[in-house]
Amino acid sequence: MAKIIVSKFGGSSMADAIAMKRSAGVAIEHSANLVTVSATYGTTNNLIKLSNLALNSSWEECESLVDEIVEKHHSIARELELQDLTELDGLLSEVRTISKGINLLRDCSAKAFDAIQSLGERMSSLLFARALEIVWDGKKEVENFDVRKVLRTDDQFGKAQPQIKEIRRLCDKELSRCKSGEIVYVTQGFIGQSEEGHTTTLGRGGSDYSAALIAEGLGADILQIWTDVAGIATTDPRIVPTAKLMSEITFSEAAELATFGAKILHPTTLTPALREGISVYVGSSYEPLAKGTWIRGECSDAPLIRAMALKKDQSLLTLSTPKMLHSHGFLYEIFKIFNQHKISVDSITTSEISVSLTVEDSTLLNKKLITELETLATVNIEENLCLVSLIGNNINHTAGLAGQIFNALGDINVRMICLGASKHNFCFLVNEARAHDAVKELHHHFIGA
Ligand code: ASP
Ligand code: MG
Repeated sequence: MAKIIVSKFGGSSMADAIAMKRSAGVAIEHSANLVTVSATYGTTNNLIKLSNLALNSSWEECESLVDEIVEKHHSIARELELQDLTELDGLLSEVRTISKGINLLRDCSAKAFDAIQSLGERMSSLLFARALEIVWDGKKEVENFDVRKVLRTDDQFGKAQPQIKEIRRLCDKELSRCKSGEIVYVTQGFIGQSEEGHTTTLGRGGSDYSAALIAEGLGADILQIWTDVAGIATTDPRIVPTAKLMSEITFSEAAELATFGAKILHPTTLTPALREGISVYVGSSYEPLAKGTWIRGECSDAPLIRAMALKKDQSLLTLSTPKMLHSHGFLYEIFKIFNQHKISVDSITTSEISVSLTVEDSTLLNKKLITELETLATVNIEENLCLVSLIGNNINHTAGLAGQIFNALGDINVRMICLGASKHNFCFLVNEARAHDAVKELHHHFIGA
């Protein structure tokens, strides 16, 4: 049986009519059964800007931005020779009406904010369905499908949580026609609907996640993520220009890479695909013939170091108190505070009377958090650090690896080291000023070039 394929195109693959037609060609060439799209390039940002303007500025200012959004979508529609503009104009007038409402009330609830942001994807999917129709030239039925019929979420507007079971049930009910290939659905990333029928969003960059959830719901074999870079590189090419594109990487490695700072897929994107054993392919819609990267449960090889990442703007908090000596429950008390403030800690080490942990620099703005931590221990703060991570396999059981790493680093001072918790990750902190040097040296040593 033919494989079931879900393809996702990001904003840069939807930049204008030419990009849309190119992406439509890619979807056809790669046999997509269902296509999930992001808003056209820059539109989500514009809709957010519009909401802020509506809240704080005059209607005249809002109106010129509304006009810009209208013109951008009309010009794509013209180039795609979309005859009937009723639906597109309906959505554009929603943009105008919601922003007018925000402006009059000087109030933008989380619900209204999600409603206005959802319009980016609702308009782009309409246009992309048209591009796909042109490229298919009548050989296949294409339908712009409202994803809110299947992507059920809770009502945490702005960061809605998908309801997996319900999504599966609804995908099965509503979308199964695309499995046989008799129809191709085009649908929206990023948005969903609560049980009460309100439009929600999954959070910025959420389209990858949507595509993975739908791939899971459909029981797809492959999820293709089309973007503007041909796959995942061994490290950020802006730091190491000779970084290589990898042909494959495991889910666990990719998740570590994303969590530790690589600007690749949204890490949570991987969860639904991982759960269902769906292979993910990352490729460029601009260079569809270039080899992309496969993300799989298991790869054909398991190199000690496959890639490396850099996470900037890190602070090291060291909490010390003699009360920790021979006592218990101290870590619990500390993490209870982080939990109450919903702050995530990236890495941690402990000694007899102190605990060091890393957080994003911006966490330090939360004075209440720091004050609360100070009731438990003395808090020492070091800012402007970077977390360098090496991602690979069997890292915690390979003799001599630490020696190789420190040799390669030469005179670069290393602050905190984390090794052991994961077989896929070795990470340490360095000063921002030496962070790029550290990555360059390690890339040269472990990957070459
Ligand atoms: N359009 C949304 C954003 O820009 C979602 C996405 O592109 O993934 O955040
Ligand atoms: Mg995006």
